[in-house]
Amino acid sequence: MVHIGSQTNERLPHLHGTPASRGIAFGKIAFLKRNAKPEIKHKVDDVKAEIDRFEQARAKAITQLGNLYEASLEKLGEQNAVVFQIHQLMLDDPDYVSQIHEVITSEQMNAEYAVDTVAKRFSMMFESMDNDYMKGRAADVLDVSRRVVDILISASGEPKNSTLKNYGTSVILATDDLAPSETVQLDKFSVTGIVTSHGSTRSHTVIFARTMGIPAIISVGDALDESLEGKNAILDGGSGMLIIEPDEETIASYKERKKTEDALRARLEQFRGKETRTLSGRKIKLYANIGNADDIDIVKSSDAEGIGLFRSEYIYLSSDDFPTEETQFKIYKQVLESMENKQVIIRTLDIGADKTAPYFTLKPEDNPAMGMRAVRICITRPEIFKVQLRALYRASVFGKLAIMFPMITSVEEVKTCLSICEEVKAELKAQEIDFDPNIEIGIMIETPASALISDELAPYVDFFSIGTNDLTQFTLAVDRQNADLGRFLNPYHHAVIRLIEMTVKNAHNAGIWVGVCGELAADEGFTHELISMGIDEMSVAPSSVLMLRARISTLG
Ligand code: PEP
Ligand code: MG
Repeated sequence: MVHIGSQTNERLPHLHGTPASRGIAFGKIAFLKRNAKPEIKHKVDDVKAEIDRFEQARAKAITQLGNLYEASLEKLGEQNAVVFQIHQLMLDDPDYVSQIHEVITSEQMNAEYAVDTVAKRFSMMFESMDNDYMKGRAADVLDVSRRVVDILISASGEPKNSTLKNYGTSVILATDDLAPSETVQLDKFSVTGIVTSHGSTRSHTVIFARTMGIPAIISVGDALDESLEGKNAILDGGSGMLIIEPDEETIASYKERKKTEDALRARLEQFRGKETRTLSGRKIKLYANIGNADDIDIVKSSDAEGIGLFRSEYIYLSSDDFPTEETQFKIYKQVLESMENKQVIIRTLDIGADKTAPYFTLKPEDNPAMGMRAVRICITRPEIFKVQLRALYRASVFGKLAIMFPMITSVEEVKTCLSICEEVKAELKAQEIDFDPNIEIGIMIETPASALISDELAPYVDFFSIGTNDLTQFTLAVDRQNADLGRFLNPYHHAVIRLIEMTVKNAHNAGIWVGVCGELAADEGFTHELISMGIDEMSVAPSSVLMLRARISTLG
């Protein structure tokens, strides 16, 4: 058993895992009982008949998943229930199906064994991928395969993978890992929390748990063993802590916290699926900020109406060399497709200052925040910029893309960026490669210079997005990286506010929209100022979306 922390709970035995779904749960720990599987491995004489058995089970599983999709729509919403349609597609994957046929034919093995073998192969392949999203798919392939195996071994044809219903009330369900289809069957009135020894925060299980409001902790490791069965526990999905046999004082303090958190969550949930409007009915675009494509599921479960800032430099930072056009294209395409025609604003690379990648071979500088960075690199080294722009334009046909340039200080820079875009478009046209010629192009207003000449910049672009983090740093000459200067880094300084006001006015005079994607956008205490200034869009961390929608609904 692991003991951590220095707070009230330190004296109590507790386990620690990865926080996966916020909230506090009380209950008795109950380990998930999956029905024991009969021995599933045996030789077959008639491989053709065995392939037919598999095909029938596969068809039945596809039908069941269709039913599960329908049944989950209300519980999880369309954007989450769609995973069962994706599961249907997995069962139709030609590679998956042909490998199963192959095992049956070449090894003369039964269908259950073949499905199990190929499922493990696929799941290991997903696990080993260098991409958290794909890692999260390992659980999905095991889940769909388990369904097919259950159908194969079940005389009645009903799946019998686990007995999820008879746990009584108030249990914290413990298991090695939980499949998405098992999660969706949970009765949230009896299962108060989920704790798993393995799992990925990217799995649909975690996304479903969040959507269903079930607190969860994952990756607790081997410390989660069956000796805990039946013990009372408190699960804190926000901190990742599972407190075993809590005393009265701890229970009372967590009950108090739960009451407050539940009330807040219930209030915020009312805003899910709604438009973001002020009291007077003015529509505000409420978007989310992301660092990489892996954040998409979180954005989707946050109910954001688009992506207001995709910090594309993270693709460069997580790479050992310049990411190729193809690598970038695939990432942008995936993000655009997943966002299903909601706007996705991708900021071109903002490398430099605190975000450096060695292969850029930037010279050491005394003041890198004011040095060779962002759009300055793009203009000086257009060959790097063009790779990104080609990838972006190629991806533009897969959704609603907008491109945004960072760290702008002059009209000249904007004109240069636009002319490089034109070159890229001309090249793609000549190569007969499709792209959307009408995507919106915007710039970040994050230097005092750009705010001061925002009237001159506006005619060249479709929108402004105010980066209050850098705007504050550069207006006040306070290094945002220096923790000792925290109290001087004041985003509410009148100089910063005036620059924001000026930017909004100039944008509207020119007939373009203006948003805020810096941290100030998520500051509830400042929302009314931004709304009264006339801000059209706010882009914030996914976790702040519902809170901000609720706040905006009380203003203006
Ligand atoms: C900003 O400067 O406010 C901004 C959103 O960009 P970043 O924080 O990535 O510099
Ligand atoms: Mg910035």
